[in-house]
Amino acid sequence: MYATVMHGPGDVRNERVEDPTILKPTDAIIKLSATCICGSDLWPYRGLQPQDGPTHMGHEYCGVVVEVGSEVRTIKPGQFVVGSFCLSDNTCPHCRYGFQSSCVSREFMTGAQAPYARVPLADGTLVASDEMPDADMIPHMLATSDVLGTGWYGAVAANVREGGTVVVVGDGAVGLMGVMAANQLGAGRIIAMSRHETRSNLAREFGATEIVEERGEDGIGRIMDLTDGVGADSVIEAVGMEQSMQQAMGVCRPGGSIGYVGVPHGVNFDGQQLFFRQQRMLGGPAPVRRFLPDLIDRVLQGKIQPGKVFDLTLPIAEVAEGYKAMDERRAIKTMLKVEE
Ligand SMILES: [Zn+2]
Repeated sequence: MYATVMHGPGDVRNERVEDPTILKPTDAIIKLSATCICGSDLWPYRGLQPQDGPTHMGHEYCGVVVEVGSEVRTIKPGQFVVGSFCLSDNTCPHCRYGFQSSCVSREFMTGAQAPYARVPLADGTLVASDEMPDADMIPHMLATSDVLGTGWYGAVAANVREGGTVVVVGDGAVGLMGVMAANQLGAGRIIAMSRHETRSNLAREFGATEIVEERGEDGIGRIMDLTDGVGADSVIEAVGMEQSMQQAMGVCRPGGSIGYVGVPHGVNFDGQQLFFRQQRMLGGPAPVRRFLPDLIDRVLQGKIQPGKVFDLTLPIAEVAEGYKAMDERRAIKTMLKVEE
């Protein structure tokens, strides 16, 4: 098959690779219905994350099971499934506490920007829908796999409550999904920090009640004004840079909570600052598996349309342009069609 391989910074190719096969008895092989490029794929693309040789890319996926290993019990060929970028057994203590992204058997999915993919730990990782979703549901189902699941975790980690005030730092795809999650969880006010019109429009469509364009100290000052000098109950940090983390901490009220889901790159915390700010912080790779059954239900019931975050759709053969468009911020998120 032809799939996506990153050879180095800025060098992504659609090239011939081996078809995936069952390697362990707990594996499944799926035929992807669609796949996409993640914001985190841009870290190695930009040379900000070292890479160990050519890498078969892709960790967001949904599709139909074509084959399972001999020890797979609950997942069957013919089922439509969605999985998380964290592969988990869903039985260990961490999984049972809802932290499948810290599973003792954890592996990270890769190789999903392809027509077919191998999913290890199939029983613990994959969630099957009762019926085959219609074609127009595929983008929304695909979005649950990572970007919505991560935004949702950001909102849950930020302790979003009915009627509460939420600030979302970051107007990338995850931040926008954080807005949607906060709205679904009943937030009263959702302040999105964005200076890009298409992104702030989407944030409003997803439930943002206010937009703050300023950044840094100005952005913090603006939000403190909007909250009568108190700060927000909940802050979702969806970037992972020093400035965005400082912004998140600067706008959260004492006793409030910060959910940080942007992978930190060059972020440092000061112990005394943390001590005196009195903020709860929870972050890390999202345990998307915890939320998947609920997110799939919300999509199938038509309550949410997270697939709207895909503003560029390309055939997988044009994957290089998909990366470029996201790198240059011409696209929020690129979906890749894998139909042959
Ligand atoms: Zn586990």
